[in-house]
Order: sequence, then structure tokens, then C-alpha cells
Amino acid sequence: MVEKTVLNIGFDDTDSPKGMCTTFLAYKIVELLQKQKTEFLDFPRLIRFNPNIPWKTRGNGAVSIRIKTRNPSKVKKQIKNLVEKYSDIKNGANPGLVFFESDTIPAEFKNFSNLALWQLIKRNYAKIFAKKNSLEFFYQGNGQGLVGAIGAIGYDFQDHTLELLSYRKRMKFGKERKLSAKSVKIMQEKTLPNTFNSFDTKKGRVLITPHGPDPVFYGIRGENVDSLVYASTILKSDEKLDGYMIFKSNQGTGDHLKNELNFENMKPFASGKITGIVSNIPKIEKGGHVFFKILSKNHEYWCAVYKPTGISTTASHLIPGDKICVGGGVRKASKKFPRIINLEFIDVISLAKNLSLTNPICKRCNKNMKSKGKNQGFQCVRCGNKASKKITVEIPRKIKKQLYIPELSAHRHLTRPKQRIGISNKTSKFEKSLSWFCVYGN
Ligand SMILES: [Zn+2]
Repeated sequence: MVEKTVLNIGFDDTDSPKGMCTTFLAYKIVELLQKQKTEFLDFPRLIRFNPNIPWKTRGNGAVSIRIKTRNPSKVKKQIKNLVEKYSDIKNGANPGLVFFESDTIPAEFKNFSNLALWQLIKRNYAKIFAKKNSLEFFYQGNGQGLVGAIGAIGYDFQDHTLELLSYRKRMKFGKERKLSAKSVKIMQEKTLPNTFNSFDTKKGRVLITPHGPDPVFYGIRGENVDSLVYASTILKSDEKLDGYMIFKSNQGTGDHLKNELNFENMKPFASGKITGIVSNIPKIEKGGHVFFKILSKNHEYWCAVYKPTGISTTASHLIPGDKICVGGGVRKASKKFPRIINLEFIDVISLAKNLSLTNPICKRCNKNMKSKGKNQGFQCVRCGNKASKKITVEIPRKIKKQLYIPELSAHRHLTRPKQRIGISNKTSKFEKSLSWFCVYGN
């Protein structure tokens, strides 16, 4: 009997803004492999990479699947066919597909994946990497999808979340999604903190349904399989769905902001964090967007905080001398500003004293004294009491020493939600008996 080999399959960039979705392709691949009784070694892995690169498809998410098979060449052929069938090439998808037969994942792959989390990786570098490591790879279009395909195989989880994605029947693609908002709210109440970012109670908005024409009906994010499956049974809709699949993901881990930014690596589209001292008084621009500078290791950097993030008010209350750690994406220089960091969080480490010089107060009358003219001193208009100098008063600060993160509606896939701060999930061990994949029989 032929020995089984471990086959890692990575793919990315099969979708376009007009339809389809890389996770749906994964669902189709798993459906096919399940029919052949393939042995799965892990959940399908949905890895989100640097969200600040300009040509990303919706979420810059790639998928990898890890299986054991006696017939890798047959599986590869089947998957290649599916990738070709389900990629939206005519609408601008640039799919990449990678096969790697190995039990272990070498360190080079992990390094490649780590870089893809926060940098802009050129597709030529991915092609060179694939050749150097004797990967079997295929691409269409410009091959940009190879970056995510390799990265998804190489990704090494330190923390993870799960997402249950449900898929629509083909005839429903592009049609309006009708899901009871009330049921989503109830689901969140019943399953929090084992699920997250399902419903924005402040704005009364459902956060689990996409709005585009892709095959996803909803996606529930959470910490373990049981909670997600339970959550899905609470949701109410009349639409008959095709099935669901649970992915293991780096969503909600803040992965792209772990990298330390500095003068050398602060290239356009890089993501990361940097610690420094606020060095000017924040400017509030039209629309409520806030701009300020921080000084870090003898270099000054502009930071931008846009109104929709919900942390622009926090930024406007910063003063020179505040020590903060900020995270975000580096934007190219424009006519108006040099290179700038678009902030996705502000962590206030220490607050400077906000001191202000004011006219002295008359101790007898408890009234502000009036200036008698330049260098003439001050006098109380009521009792005539005199003083020579202005006094320093401390104005209470309006922000605290804490972490400020965007409002729910401004969260990206990778944003670490408040309830996950300080949490590292290592518990969802993969077992075949888990109901991580289901095609409904209706
Ligand atoms: Zn007085």
C-alpha cells in the first residue's frame, strides 16, 4: 500500500469586487475532498494579510488546507481545475495556487508569511521564493495571488479565532440577504464573549453579512466550534443555505500591527506600531479628521486619525509631551502631507501635565485679577490687592492612560476587538469529530 503524504495547499486572490470569494472556493475544494474521504489535519486556515496594500481584494485573505493523501497528484489536478473554474479572472482576479508536500513547514515559509502581514511583498519575490523552495505553483493574471498562497501555508498561529462562514445557493448569488437583525442581536447576547463583532448595538447594525454579490450569506466570528454552531442556530432567515464551513483565522488578533515601525522600514503601505512623544498640538481638519506629529528615536512622523474611526476626538485631546504607542498603516506622501501613518489604535502610555499660565487670583476675593498693562503687574478690581506675575494652573486632561481602539463599524478583519485584548486562543484543537464542515441536505 502506498504511504500517505502530507499535502499543504495554499491559494489566494481568486475573487474580484464583482463576485466569488476565496473562502467559497475553499468550501468547494473541501466538499470535493470530503466526498473522497480525505483525511484533514487542520481546519481550513483563513489568513488575512497586510490590509494596507493598495491592490488587495476585499479583505486580503488567503486560504490554506492541510491534508493527508495517498494520491497527491490526483488531488492536485482536481484542485487546479476547481481554482480555474471558480476564479473570477475576467473581473480582475489574479489567482495563485501553491502545493507543498511536507509534514513540517520550514522557517523560511514562516518568515515569508510574517513579512506579508505588514509589508508590501512584490509578486516577483513570491515567484523567486516558490522556485527556490521547489514549490509547485500556478498562477493566472499577474500572479499577485502567489504571495498569499505561500503566506497561508507558512503562517504559524500564536493566537487564533474561528469564523463560521455560511454559503448561499447559486441562484441566490447577488440577491439581497434577508437575515433578522433581531436574531443577530439575540445571538450576540447569548454567545458573547465566545463570539465577537456580530452586532453593533450603538448603531443597531448587523455586522455579520457582507454587502457584495459574493456567495457568503453570513460569517460568525468566535473562539470555538460549539459556540459558533450554536450561534448559527439562533439566527433567523427564510433563505435555504447551501452549507457552512469553519475556518481557523488570524482575524481579530491585531496581527498586522505587531511589527515595530522605524525610520528604515516605514515604507509606503507598511503596517505596524511605533512608540513616541507627541511633538505638536493636534490639528483638527475639516470633517473632524485629526493630524499630529510624534517624535520617535530622533525622527518625526505625521499621524492621521480619521473621523469614522471614532478615535479622532481622543487624538484631538493629545498634547505635546504625551507618550503614546500608535498602530496603523503608512500612507504615501501627498501634496499636502509627507509620509503619514493612518492610525488604527492609540495606546496612551503617559500623559504630560497640561499647564497653562493665567492671571493670578485674589486670595481675599477669589476673583481673577486684571492686568495693569505690559510688565505692570496685576490688580484686583474689587479690593486693590496686587500681584506681580501670572500663575501656572494645571488643566485636567480629557483622556486617560489606556488603549483607544476604533468603533466597531470601523473595525477591519484583523482589528483586535476590546474583548480579545490580552487573550490568546490556543484551545481550538482540530478533531475530525468536530462539526466544522456541513452541506445542508435541502
Ligand atoms: Zn480682591
